[in-house]
Order: sequence, then structure tokens, then C-alpha cells
Amino acid sequence: MPVIIDGKATAARCNEETARDIAALKSRGITPGLAVVLLGENPASQAYVRSKDKICRELGMHSRKLELAAATSQEELLRLITELNADPAIHGILVQSPCPPQIDESAIVRAIDPRKDVDGFHPLNVAALAMEDPSALVPCTPLGCLELLRAHGIATAGARAVVVGRSLIVGKPMAMLLLAKGADATVTVAHSRTADLAAVTREADIVIAAIGRPNLLGAEHVREGAVVIDVGINRIDEPADPRGYRLVGDVDFAAVAPKCRAITPVPGGVGPMTIAMLMRNTVRACRNLTGEK
Ligand code: NAP
Repeated sequence: MPVIIDGKATAARCNEETARDIAALKSRGITPGLAVVLLGENPASQAYVRSKDKICRELGMHSRKLELAAATSQEELLRLITELNADPAIHGILVQSPCPPQIDESAIVRAIDPRKDVDGFHPLNVAALAMEDPSALVPCTPLGCLELLRAHGIATAGARAVVVGRSLIVGKPMAMLLLAKGADATVTVAHSRTADLAAVTREADIVIAAIGRPNLLGAEHVREGAVVIDVGINRIDEPADPRGYRLVGDVDFAAVAPKCRAITPVPGGVGPMTIAMLMRNTVRACRNLTGEK
């Protein structure tokens, strides 16, 4: 039987550690603060923002939830970012994606003070990650995947890892983290143009799926004894569910799990880790900005 990697429990342990770090900072008169900006009323985004705000408060952090109209202009949003950059009570700034079409998300990311860029999407943080600069703020989801591997004693050094997906948010930073000294995996990145994906992923000791296609990876994609981290969060119709949908990953769990040494479920795998790493990044940003250890 595979180990089912419990993201909720691992995230709870990370959050306990973060709460202790926050308490220590507060005892020295510093309260880490996170601002989360949401434009419009996308229900999934609203749910993410609510849980970020809730966990922030539970851990003792200062949280500002800024809910703006969907019609907010690029200029208005840039003005808000400038204010938040200058606000000493705010150490982390996050603009919830996706933004409405009038917003140039890449320009917004560049406008955020890189020291407050707790999503790790600013070009200076991307470069810092590539350069293995320890001050880099690293994107939360890949950081969460690495933490899950570490927390479950899954060695990456010398392992063959295949990351499926090459997005700036997950795939590319995931590959860089696994490749970095200390993690020391041998990394392959696959994408929609990869020929014979199953042959590529079957080579892997560790498969990270960040694709956004429900149940795309089946038993034929995974070799016996592999570790599978499923980043995908996909809604599929489920008339029997009161919400009318259910969440599934990019991996066909029922087909793949019996072959695995360890696997993450969806939900309850990578998802909770993303928020835990956001909290951790905000504390890191606060320490960097204030010079407090
Ligand atoms: P994305 O920007 O759409 O990137 C998807 C990647 O998958 C692309 O690189 C794409 O290749 C590749 N791909 C698409 N179809 C493929 C196929 N048939 N075979 C191989 N590769 C294929 O998505 P993302 O932002 O990285 O997110 C990926 C998934 O993770 C989504 O389900 C998202 O909801 C989820 N997610 C979860 C969390 C979490 O906290 N758990 C956080 C972020 C994202 P090309 O580059 O060639 O198009």
C-alpha cells in the first residue's frame, strides 16, 4: 500500500512552526502583515482569499483583505500596490490570480517591492531562485511540494524527477528547486509538446504533475515504487454533489496509487501546503525587511 501524503497534517505542522516564529517577532514588537488583493468575484478566488485571511489571523499575523471591483483599472491597482509597498505594517503583498482582462498581471508583479513579493513571481526573485540565492522568495506551491517530500523522508538527491508542466507559477520553479544544490535531483521538465509523455514519466523516481488536466496521468505513466505529487486542482461535474462538482487532480489516483511508494491526494495534498508556505514566506519577508531574526 502506498503512503498517502497528508498535506493537511504537514501544513498544520508547518503552521505551528510559523505561529511560534510570529509570536517571537511579536514579543519584539513586530507583527508580520500580509495584504491580499482580489479583483472581482470569482468564487474560487474568493474562497482562496478567505482561507488565506483566516489562516493569517489564526497564526497571529496582521491580515489586510482588499476586495476591489472587477472594473478596477490598471492605474488604480498600481496606486494601491505603491501604497502597500510603502506601508510598514505590510511585509507581504499578493494579488490573487486570475485578474480581469484589463489588468496586465506581469506589470503588477513587477510593481510589487520584490522584498514583499511573497508569491515569488517578481523577476528578481525568479533570478534569485535560479542563482540559488538564499534570500529568494520562492513560489509557494513548488516550495510546498518540496516540503512534503522532505517531511515524508523522500530523498531527492540523485533521484530522477520529472516535472510535468512548465508554468512560471509551478513547473519551472519546481524544476529549479529540485535541481538546486541540496535537493540535487536529476530533473526533466515535460509539457504539452513532449513526445511520448508516458515513456518520460515512467523513468521518474518522483513525478510532479502540474498540468491542469483532470486525471491525465494514468497507471501507464508511472513506474512501480514512484513517488507522485499531484499539484492539479480541477473541477469536474458531479451532479450528486451539492456543489455540482468535485475536485480531482491531474493524476488518476485510483489507477496510479497502487503502483506508488507515496502519493498526494486531491484535495488534501499540495493545496494546504501552498497556504502554509505563503505564511512562511510572509514571516521571511518580515524578517528580511525588519532585520529581525
Ligand atoms: P498552466 O499555467 O496552465 O500550465 C500547465 C502546464 O501543463 C503547461 O506547461 C502545459 O504545457 C502543460 N500541459 C498541458 N497539457 C499537457 C499535456 N497533455 N501533457 C503534458 N503537459 C501538458 O497551469 P499551472 O498554473 O501550472 O497549474 C497547473 C495545475 O495546478 C492546475 O490544475 C492548477 O489549478 C493547479 N495549481 C494548484 C495549486 C495548489 O495550491 N495545489 C497552485 C497552483 C496551481 P505547455 O506549456 O506546452 O502549454
